[in-house]
Amino acid sequence: MNKERSQKLTPKNPRGRRKPLLVVISAPSGGGKTTICKKLIERHPDEMKISVSATTRRPRPGEVNGVDYFFISEPEFFERVRRGEFLEYERVHGNYYGTLRSTVEKLLAEGYTVLFDVDVNGALAIKKRFPEAVLIFIKPPSIEALKERLRARQTDDPEEIEKRLRRLPEEYAKSKEFDYIVVNNKLEDTLRQIESIIARHAEER
Ligand code: 5GP
Repeated sequence: MNKERSQKLTPKNPRGRRKPLLVVISAPSGGGKTTICKKLIERHPDEMKISVSATTRRPRPGEVNGVDYFFISEPEFFERVRRGEFLEYERVHGNYYGTLRSTVEKLLAEGYTVLFDVDVNGALAIKKRFPEAVLIFIKPPSIEALKERLRARQTDDPEEIEKRLRRLPEEYAKSKEFDYIVVNNKLEDTLRQIESIIARHAEER
């Protein structure tokens, strides 16, 4: 690990605790945001944690309950909605996804920078609730590149891919309300740009 990378992005304040920072990362499906979030956490394990959402979607091969998502049934999801357990929730590509209030509150109390991997509507809902949240939209270099990634991923069938692509116009329109748009050309460049955005916001507070 080089020196620059190992430097803390979010310095602790004099009382030894960091101020909570909320960083929301949204992208079209296949835009690479899951990899980006995982890499950020790998690079800053004692500073950042991801808010693990609950979903009614079935796990993809390799996904782990409690790590990638909390995989729950639709009746359980709506029972939790009724109990007010979600900060926000959305129907995306035919499944429900929700950000768990308790998870976020715990991470913020522990002084972590919390990363959210949510859709554009979820991002805007989080901004409403926490106006200081930093919203970053990850844009693929081109629509063609995005289609290629979705096909190469081989996790979704063609119909599923079409469903995901149909959402692009809405996602691009809403990205105008984000604080930053980062084009994901090369993963390393994208990570550095996001790290510098986080460092800048940590300084400002
Ligand atoms: P996937 O099924 O590919 O894991 O996720 C589909 C979409 O749902 C992605 O855009 C992802 O960011 C979004 N998503 C995941 N968790 C949440 C959540 O808790 N709330 C909202 N609004 N969107 C989410």
